[in-house]
Amino acid sequence: MNFAEIDKEYVLQTYARNYVRFVKGENSILYDENGRDYVDFGSGIAVCSVGHANPRLADALCDQAKKLIHVSNLYLIDTQALLAKRLAELSGYDVRTFFANSGAEANEGAIKMARKYGEVEGEVKRYKIITLEHSFHGRTITALKATGQESMHNYFGPYPDGFVYARDIEHVYDLIDDHTVAVMVELVQGEGGVEPMDRDAMQRLSKELKSRDILLIVDEVQTGIYRTGEVLASNLYGITPDIITLAKGLGGGVPIGAVMTTHKEILKTGEHGSTFGGNFLSTRAALEVLDILEEHKLSGELDHMLLLFERRLKDIASKFDDLFEKEVGVGFMRGLRVKDTKDAGEIISAAFDERVVVLKAGKNTVRFLPVLTITKEEMELGFERFERALAAL
Ligand SMILES: *Cc1c(COP(=O)(O)O)cnc(C)c1O
Repeated sequence: MNFAEIDKEYVLQTYARNYVRFVKGENSILYDENGRDYVDFGSGIAVCSVGHANPRLADALCDQAKKLIHVSNLYLIDTQALLAKRLAELSGYDVRTFFANSGAEANEGAIKMARKYGEVEGEVKRYKIITLEHSFHGRTITALKATGQESMHNYFGPYPDGFVYARDIEHVYDLIDDHTVAVMVELVQGEGGVEPMDRDAMQRLSKELKSRDILLIVDEVQTGIYRTGEVLASNLYGITPDIITLAKGLGGGVPIGAVMTTHKEILKTGEHGSTFGGNFLSTRAALEVLDILEEHKLSGELDHMLLLFERRLKDIASKFDDLFEKEVGVGFMRGLRVKDTKDAGEIISAAFDERVVVLKAGKNTVRFLPVLTITKEEMELGFERFERALAAL
């Protein structure tokens, strides 16, 4: 059967799809229909945190599917309660969590919380949310408006009011006015081009916002769940946000989003909801993912591999300094900044021809988001192939 033709005929063509047909995987390795192996340095855009076909995750999903997948949020969901407790304990934050199904939807929840806060706290109604240029917060109308990339706003207006974009963290201070209720940032911008915020600048901003009763929302949809080496990037930055959103790596591939907040009473019964959010299947998956990754972290293996991966990328950046300006990123969210923007696409497709999957971020960054359980052998094989691709350019 020609699946590519069926896709082109019946699926709305919103992606510039590569028509390779992957049929199975094993940790960092993907196999296509002809049995060829690819080293996956993209992990489905930071989603497959515990690798492909992780046996523990597969067993947990099978076990749960045979008991209950879904009952609706009108009833107790024990795995959801346990996951909320686990997220609070692992992160070290005094929070309650709302569960959704995706990053954009988690951010919608965060924005609703902020709007409610601006309505009930303070003398005047506050509704403005400051986000950053080059940010990415999702594709729903409000999350898209929160996204500080004007080129993505074409066609879909009118948008909700109240979003303003700061050039960088220092510019945030200039944009604050009496109507500002929140500042929303990624600590390491992902889609915008693997751009870490400065730690001191974030700590200063966090303090200033607290003193002015303005909420700090940290979009950890990509940075969360050990992607930066810590449970949350907020832990790494030593800040305590008012609201944190999660999604990508949390379910290991099963769709789930989460909004954690220290404002435990901000939303009351009936003010927010989700049909699928936090059901048995997705929360059971996330519980297993957290178990696997916590063990991986405690064993020292995660930090060990992070270091090796970073060192290897730095070597490549200097070895191929005709192509690359520098190596960037944090933890397992890394990139190589190309000197010539037109090279990024070429490098990615040359790498693919050598059977190593890498991604693009922004205009000029070749991005690496390996599975968090990557082995040394998988890493070596991937970089060997990547270097071969570079050498042939
Ligand atoms: C991917 C991403 C989103 C959007 O997540 P979806 O699940 O695609 O809605 C939002 N914010 C950040 C930082 C992301 O990386």
